[in-house]
Amino acid sequence: MSDGIVFDAEAGSSLVNELRLTFASGKTRTYAWRVSQLTTLSNLIDDHEQQIIEALRSDLAKPPLETVAYEIAMLKNSCNVALKELKHWMTSEKVKTSIATFPSSAEIVTEPLGVVLVISAWNYPFLLSLDPVIGAIAAGNAVVLKPSEISPATSSLLAKLLWDYMDNSSVRVVEGAVDETSALLQQKWDKIFYTGNGRVARVVMAAAAKHLTPVVLELGGKSPVVVDSNINLEVAIRRIIAGKWGSNNGQACISPDYIITTKEYAPKLVDALKAELEKFYGKNPLDSQDLSRIVNSNHFARLTKLLDDDKVSGKIVYGGEKDESKLRIAPTVLLDIPRDSLIMSEEIFGPLLPIITVDKLEESFDVINSGPKPLAAYVFTNNKALKEQFVTTVSAGGLVVNDTAIHLAVHTLPFGGVGESGVGAYHGKFSFDAFSHKKAVLYRGFMGDASIRYPPYTNTKMRL
Ligand code: NAD
Repeated sequence: MSDGIVFDAEAGSSLVNELRLTFASGKTRTYAWRVSQLTTLSNLIDDHEQQIIEALRSDLAKPPLETVAYEIAMLKNSCNVALKELKHWMTSEKVKTSIATFPSSAEIVTEPLGVVLVISAWNYPFLLSLDPVIGAIAAGNAVVLKPSEISPATSSLLAKLLWDYMDNSSVRVVEGAVDETSALLQQKWDKIFYTGNGRVARVVMAAAAKHLTPVVLELGGKSPVVVDSNINLEVAIRRIIAGKWGSNNGQACISPDYIITTKEYAPKLVDALKAELEKFYGKNPLDSQDLSRIVNSNHFARLTKLLDDDKVSGKIVYGGEKDESKLRIAPTVLLDIPRDSLIMSEEIFGPLLPIITVDKLEESFDVINSGPKPLAAYVFTNNKALKEQFVTTVSAGGLVVNDTAIHLAVHTLPFGGVGESGVGAYHGKFSFDAFSHKKAVLYRGFMGDASIRYPPYTNTKMRL
């Protein structure tokens, strides 16, 4: 951890107690503290752009442009939005009252929850760590961040920078893996915000349940892309590639996981994908500097297993090359994949893109709805009726029509899953709300004290 001490349950308890004292002092509730910490966080990012880029290159060989666009710029934007809107978000909302309380007035007062825990994942390790922290600070909480041990360079950079820049009495980082996270999860928090896979989410939720701690769970799933034939194919293909291989080489929670198209249209789609992929990543994509590598050998082995499944043998229509020594897998497209194959039964989270085919595109919606609810779903079409059908029938964390993954950048939209893809949401005001309690406050004077509330409960009162 950041302080150089072994982190066990006792250390967890004393850390939480320390932060509780800070919270109880009222310091983090003030507008001035929130603004100063958000400004400091924004400055920290400005001052260390190069180090952030290098940490992500070390952890994932992430292309600098992706780091700048999808981690640094997104975080700067989150800070800017919070700083611009904070006064407004913190203002109590006057609401109407009921005849039963006449005369009275009422308001909703937003208050911080207290001491919160953020556990983040390795794939966008800077963004996924600090974006929830921005929400926690904006809402006036003390916060502990536990970055992922699978992206160690980013984890240690976060620990150092937050220690150097932020208010250590209320913003702390604990580095570590399962043991350290378990020690943290034994503590009583006021909210736990977890990003990662569904298996660990269940561990987090069970630990939270012991203290009745509310959770936000930002998980994943198999995010489908439905492709119609009446589209601008060139633009559609570019946008699918950007969301898949241009987003950490498919290691993104809202990456297109598989494509559904008609049997008739599939060959044209595959040809266009092949041509554009070669244009973007060259004839030897394993050497491309514009593709992240696979994060570690476990994930490399997991992805290899998906390709080794007998049910997909002979189905690769593009790519398939891999280099274990460099943890690199080329963009790979598979056609006509059976739905009971391994690759269709779990989230891929890597550079493999299966295409499944249907007779009529409308069948796609049943295919999607027959599985667990995904984090995102995409459709490419110019058909108005199909768009409407997609929006009304497909249940997913978020939907995008005629693009992929880009909804993440719209801070006025909630970002989160539904069903197995997650619980709760964040981004923009939704982040502030995720870490706030909306307190109902009713004001009354001493006038209008209706006797109907008080015994004796006579028949006359019953009829009123
Ligand atoms: P990960 O391995 O980094 O794990 C996430 C966190 O859980 C880490 O901080 C890790 O230390 C902790 N952890 C792991 N095992 C634990 C245990 N037994 N007990 C307690 N804590 C434990 O990341 P991952 O799970 O491989 O992330 C990939 C998954 O996350 C994918 O399913 C992806 O779709 C999802 N994801 C979702 C979002 C989102 O915003 N919805 C973003 C990124 C990733």
